[in-house]
Amino acid sequence: MADIAELYEGLKKEKTELLKKLQQLKNRGQPLLERREGSPFGKREEEAEEAFELEKRLALEKGLRDTFAEIEHALQKYEAGTYGLCDSCGQPIEQARLEALPQASLCLKCKARQTKDAKGAR
Ligand SMILES: [Zn+2]
Repeated sequence: MADIAELYEGLKKEKTELLKKLQQLKNRGQPLLERREGSPFGKREEEAEEAFELEKRLALEKGLRDTFAEIEHALQKYEAGTYGLCDSCGQPIEQARLEALPQASLCLKCKARQTKDAKGAR
């Protein structure tokens, strides 16, 4: 079983990795934009493909940013001494859940309720 200090170290590494990936995405994005500006009469298909690529990249970037925010939150909880406690009910989060998802901020019960509420709202 991993202890909390190990999970914390893992989260810090994960955060560094995420920053690298986000940076790579940004670097890859620039040539795409320059090319678009440079060829105002590009074919429609090319444009559609670029738009698709851009959308994919934005979705990927959003996913990375969301995970990054969760990890940042978990690290802050660790500093505050509340890591491993549910944000909603304050009860300890299941150990197995933390090992699978070290940045989890809700226990399984609260997470399930949140998911249900979100579905009900839509
Ligand atoms: Zn809870």
